[in-house]
Amino acid sequence: MGNKTFTIIKPDAFGAGNSGPIIEKIEKAGFNIENMRLLKLDEDSASKFYSVHKEKPFFGRLCDYMCSGPIIVMELNKENAVEDFRKLIGATNPEDAEEGTIRKLFATSIEANAIHGSDSDENAEIEINFFFN
Ligand code: GDP
Repeated sequence: MGNKTFTIIKPDAFGAGNSGPIIEKIEKAGFNIENMRLLKLDEDSASKFYSVHKEKPFFGRLCDYMCSGPIIVMELNKENAVEDFRKLIGATNPEDAEEGTIRKLFATSIEANAIHGSDSDENAEIEINFFFN
């Protein structure tokens, strides 16, 4: 069980002015922010970051969307970080997300779903290195 995860406040949430309330929920849930950057992705970086989805029909749209505005990337620290953070953000599709989760509160669609959270300790490490090294 690792103690690191990685998150992105996605363009829809940043653009709607929801970064503040999202960061507040993350901190209140016990995560420490170890590293944080505001940036805008280019298509090349977005397609590298989401390369696991490159065969999916929504890949092109997903990359365009991730480049559509500024994002905030963060390295987070907490015991059992990956699993606890996935619980805090809720299901990929906000229609399926539990009440009180970040996606239930702030996502507008399965694509514009407000926030990213690493799905394994291994991917958390890869994603942290992608943005912070
Ligand atoms: P996550 O781990 O919950 O973020 O979900 P995935 O790794 O399966 O998908 C990555 C991201 O692709 C999601 O967070 C969504 O932004 C987007 N996405 C996933 N499934 C779909 C889909 O069916 N259609 C569209 N347009 N976007 C999707």
